[in-house]
Amino acid sequence: MILILLGPPGAGKGTQAKVLAQKLKVPHISTGDLLRQNVKENTSFGVEAKKYMEKGELVPDKLVNDMLKNRMGEPDTKDGFILDGYPRNIAQAEILDKMFGKADGVHVVYLQTSEPVVIQRLSGRRVCSNCGANFHIKNMPPKNDGTCDICGGKLYQRTDDQENTIKKRLDVYLKETSSLVDYYEKQDKLFRISADDEPEIVISMILDLVKSGRR
Ligand code: AMP
Repeated sequence: MILILLGPPGAGKGTQAKVLAQKLKVPHISTGDLLRQNVKENTSFGVEAKKYMEKGELVPDKLVNDMLKNRMGEPDTKDGFILDGYPRNIAQAEILDKMFGKADGVHVVYLQTSEPVVIQRLSGRRVCSNCGANFHIKNMPPKNDGTCDICGGKLYQRTDDQENTIKKRLDVYLKETSSLVDYYEKQDKLFRISADDEPEIVISMILDLVKSGRR
């Protein structure tokens, strides 16, 4: 089972993917999280990627593809995985097609939402520096200001969640990523879901889709 979550930054891909990964018992692979981990550890991938991430631009395909291939080679992916933040352009989608295009059980879910919702979600998002859990200052505030409910870690605002970079990321999404909706629609693989519904509703729709084997 391979589940690809498409949608603009702030559509809730990461939040949904974390829950779905538990329910479907497959790993959640977020290229954004993998890149941030590399930045944190100051690896050669991270040093290179940081320059692009800070500006809200896409990291070059070669770097992301190599990093993802390493991750997909780990044993926990044997029954499948959930991809969040990949593919981000047609070239990346073609790479996935080469690897899995003909496989059964590939689902592409497009989380549809509007720009004002996305801006509100991203600008209020806070992330745990220790466990990576997401909070929101209005929609999902932590019990104690600035502290993660789950592990007690310190919450921070991602540098690319600041207003100017959000705008840039949305531009990049429109320019590079939104064409994937068409790409997968033509392959008859796309399933659209409104990401403005409550998270529980979105999750149950995705689970129904995966379990029914529909595409
Ligand atoms: P995300 O956490 O998915 O919002 O990603 C954060 C940043 O990581 C993006 O703005 C890009 O700079 C970079 N990034 C994540 N995934 C990819 C990808 N598939 N291709 C290129 N850059 C990516």
